[in-house]
Amino acid sequence: MGKQKDFIIPFVGLGLGFHEFTYEVNDVFFENFEYSEIKKGNVNVSLSFEKQESMFVLDFQIKGTVNIECDRCLEDYNQDISSSQQLIIQFGETYNEESDEIITIPENAYEIDVAPYIYEYIHLSLPIRRVHSGLKDGSSGCNQKVIKKLNEHSESEQTDPRWDVLKKLKEKL
Ligand SMILES: [Zn+2]
Repeated sequence: MGKQKDFIIPFVGLGLGFHEFTYEVNDVFFENFEYSEIKKGNVNVSLSFEKQESMFVLDFQIKGTVNIECDRCLEDYNQDISSSQQLIIQFGETYNEESDEIITIPENAYEIDVAPYIYEYIHLSLPIRRVHSGLKDGSSGCNQKVIKKLNEHSESEQTDPRWDVLKKLKEKL
């Protein structure tokens, strides 16, 4: 993954107290993560970075839209996301992820790349059930042609005896 310098905070130069950062996350951001299931999106991230004597407290506000695959019809759709996440950074011998919310970075570190955290938080903001939202008239927003085809396919699989023959052949191999 290539580093995105806009997302690197050189905290050594910051005074104690609160600092505000805002990030526009777009398609280029997701392209940097090769295996991202999100390929496109438009997300606004505001970060409140509190520098304390011995640790940092980062509060992320994430809000926007990402383009992901629908679980039902497999077509891409726009999913609204909105969440807030906190990350505590403390200092120690070496880099270590203590938990989802606490990381340790080396004493001599002078900057932090927040891109991987923003990436992770955007994924955490996704709903478990990812489907097209319903239309105004109450019907499904999914591609009905695809749904119909998928249904036909699963029905034919259950009833078509040729499949059973093939399956038996496969088991023998
Ligand atoms: Zn759908």
